[in-house]
Amino acid sequence: MPDRELRVCALYPELMNIYADRGNLLMLERRCRWRGIGFTLTASDLGDELDPNAAQLYYIGGGQDRDQRLCAFDLAQVKRDALHAVAQRGGVILAVCGGYQLLGHSYELGDETLPGVGLVDLRTVRADGPRLIGNAAIEVQLTPGRQRVLAGFENHGGRTHLGRSAQPLGRVLRGHGNNGEDGFEGVRERNVIGTYLHGPLLPKNAWFADWLIETALGCAGQLAPLDDELEQAAHGDARRAAGV
Ligand code: GLN
Repeated sequence: MPDRELRVCALYPELMNIYADRGNLLMLERRCRWRGIGFTLTASDLGDELDPNAAQLYYIGGGQDRDQRLCAFDLAQVKRDALHAVAQRGGVILAVCGGYQLLGHSYELGDETLPGVGLVDLRTVRADGPRLIGNAAIEVQLTPGRQRVLAGFENHGGRTHLGRSAQPLGRVLRGHGNNGEDGFEGVRERNVIGTYLHGPLLPKNAWFADWLIETALGCAGQLAPLDDELEQAAHGDARRAAGV
């Protein structure tokens, strides 16, 4: 019997699952199981109350603007307090692309302003300009003194602008990042992480999947190593595709 179990809760897995979000969840599952760590996946859909203690890691994937609209109101009206409680106790929240855009104050879509869940200081605006699409790589420092690269793919019409109190997840090496202008990508506040990188994020960046697992389980540096030949090849391919 594994002596530990990672409990993951996916928010809106049917509505917010564009671009390999299921692959990200599978990656977490496999890397736990390969190490003898238990894994359970639950879902929280529109209208469901969220239990802030049901999981150590909450996941929100990407989505189209019309699906995000439904989720934005549900996040703000039904799940807001629970997500703030998760963040305050240091639980992990990973939000990718469409999910990331809903973490802050608001997402402006033309005349309409969707509410954000208010976990981090940022705003997203749907610009008239071209979508920001392509392979991307960013430099991140999740562990003090240790720079690493996250490589992936981005495809978003919204531009995200961090407020004064928000820290980016990383610095853009290649690609557009949050808004194509300021050189930042994503957001990180303690264990709340938002990023535009997907396509898929975790299978291409196994080290980041492990960081999420060990942070969620509170066992930093204690995960058994795995044979990551294929994962490292995928990471190398993603970096080469981005030109890094
Ligand atoms: N609908 C959002 C945008 O285009 C996010 C898209 C996505 O999740 N890929 O900006």
